[in-house]
Amino acid sequence: MPIITLPDGSERRFDEPVSVADVAADIGPGLAKAALAGRVDGRLVDTDFVIDTDTKLAIVTARDDDGIEIIRHSTAHLLAQAVKQLYPEAQVTIGPVIEDGFYYDFAFERTFTPEDLESIENRMEELASADVPVTREVMDRDAAVDYFRRLGEEYKAEIIASIPANEQISIYGQGDWKDLCRGPHVPSTGHLRAFKLTKVAGAYWRGDSRNEMLQRIYGTAWPDKKALKAYLHRLEEAEKRDHRRIGQELDLFSIQEGAGGGLVFWHPRGARIRRVMEDYWRDRHIDAGYELLYTPHIALETLWQTSGHTDFYRESMYTPMVEDEQLYQLKPMNCPFHVLVYQDRLRSYRELPIRWAELGTVYRHEMSGALHGLMRVRGFTQDDAHVFCREEQIADEVMGVLDLTLSMLRDFGFERFEVNLSTKPEKAVGSDEIWDKATIALRAALDAKGLEYVLDEGGGAFYGPKIDVKIEDAIGRSWQCSTIQLDFNLPERFQMEYVAEDGERRRPIMIHRALLGSLERFFGVLIEHYAGRFPAWLAPVQAVVLNITDRQANYANQVAQSLKNQGFRVETDLRNEKIGFKIREHTLQRVPYLLVVGDREMEAGTVAVRSRGGEDLGSMALDGFVERLSADLAKRGRSAIATEE
Ligand SMILES: [Zn+2]
Ligand SMILES: [Zn+2]
Repeated sequence: MPIITLPDGSERRFDEPVSVADVAADIGPGLAKAALAGRVDGRLVDTDFVIDTDTKLAIVTARDDDGIEIIRHSTAHLLAQAVKQLYPEAQVTIGPVIEDGFYYDFAFERTFTPEDLESIENRMEELASADVPVTREVMDRDAAVDYFRRLGEEYKAEIIASIPANEQISIYGQGDWKDLCRGPHVPSTGHLRAFKLTKVAGAYWRGDSRNEMLQRIYGTAWPDKKALKAYLHRLEEAEKRDHRRIGQELDLFSIQEGAGGGLVFWHPRGARIRRVMEDYWRDRHIDAGYELLYTPHIALETLWQTSGHTDFYRESMYTPMVEDEQLYQLKPMNCPFHVLVYQDRLRSYRELPIRWAELGTVYRHEMSGALHGLMRVRGFTQDDAHVFCREEQIADEVMGVLDLTLSMLRDFGFERFEVNLSTKPEKAVGSDEIWDKATIALRAALDAKGLEYVLDEGGGAFYGPKIDVKIEDAIGRSWQCSTIQLDFNLPERFQMEYVAEDGERRRPIMIHRALLGSLERFFGVLIEHYAGRFPAWLAPVQAVVLNITDRQANYANQVAQSLKNQGFRVETDLRNEKIGFKIREHTLQRVPYLLVVGDREMEAGTVAVRSRGGEDLGSMALDGFVERLSADLAKRGRSAIATEE
């Protein structure tokens, strides 16, 4: 009878078939209580799943990522049960787990109000404290369709009807409520202790705007109240930092519905920040041995056939346009263009590595429902570059890219990183030999830089292994911006070559890399990271000169002009308003320095300096202020001047 091997390698023998719950109880009462599911030979199952053969088993608890996911998934069911009890005429559809929570879509004649959410949440609390057991049953497809149709659940019936007829359907039930589900689920609703419904939004049935609009209720769920509270606090912080709101308050950018969704308009103040980002980016790349390229925005469709994009990237590409009976394609990527420049003449090994960088604007089709401020757009500028090198240069080149990446991200104010290395997936191009060599080179580069990383076995793209760098922002959220990706595919497709030392023709290795990702999205991350309080380096206005009365208007202008002449971004506010009012307004605009000038300052030729944090820095000569501002600029986004470079 079954011998069960636990994750620590220990074995337990049983005389007859046992459930996951039995094994948990056999290990100890604490685990019996905490068990949410089991992982049997890698597959997630319910705690009442019966094991009758020798197998490996891990007990899944809320400490496990899988456990948290099961809690969120089960809470989505709890939500649907509560909604059906309170609003029997609502119809259920789907309820997946998302990052930090879940949602459930309902067909309902009206919008759920905040009061509705409150009563739904209360009902969920009641159902959870009743600790109702969750049970699983299996039905034939047609029986399941009939069951839900009889209940008037047309959407559910439609989903099940699209499953192949010979498949068995698993249905989960708790009390009076049943739902189609693959599972697994918590053993009983008492395991759902910390949840909250967060908002309601409209969503189209099956994500298609031609279909009817449903009501999507979002919620979050955590293993305990403490984790829930911490998350809600983070959410509140994130709300305050929402780049769309700050972008409007500070007049940085907009999305113009008249032009279409997902297309970004940089307003003058946002454009000033972008210019700083771009100038800095270009300077750093030139210092790191890159050359800059500029390439077109459209190209013949045939180019995208050669590159393979028309096959594997079609869904993200705009429909081609016809001109002179030829098809042209708006570019979704810059890569093939850089390849064409490489191909313009025969290359020698002496030229390698070639490093070409471009702030290349690309267009990708995204579903309108997926668009989100600057974070998910349809037109954006990648801070792109391609390195063409020989196999034995991979490690050095990747080290160089890592150095540049981390140094630049630190300059933008990020201090914590998470690095992932993704290796060969099942379906891949290129020989095992080149994959091995490249993966070893990437590991060597990470080790040489002393970077800790998480290995994502099999998580690479089909054309090569990659390194991703995530940054952690001021409120602990992580954002994936940088990626360094090896490519064995494009050089093959374009038959790229170089003449090696021995006169033979060889294929170069291609490395794609973007450090910020896209300027638009990175700008969005910066706005949220700084909550609009940009360091002086990036601030669209670094200082405002404020006069107290009209008498100092000329002096205020002179001060501003002198600072502008020295290259600073400075404005004046000479309005006939109370000084307190003006200070408040520019503080709300997050201007780093406010320079107040009254009679006393005018006579002494000084400025009274206030920081946007409200700190009174005292009166100083203009040179003194310039020194202070210059020291600030030298730090860029860091808390101190960089010493490691
Ligand atoms: Zn489920
Ligand atoms: Zn590329």
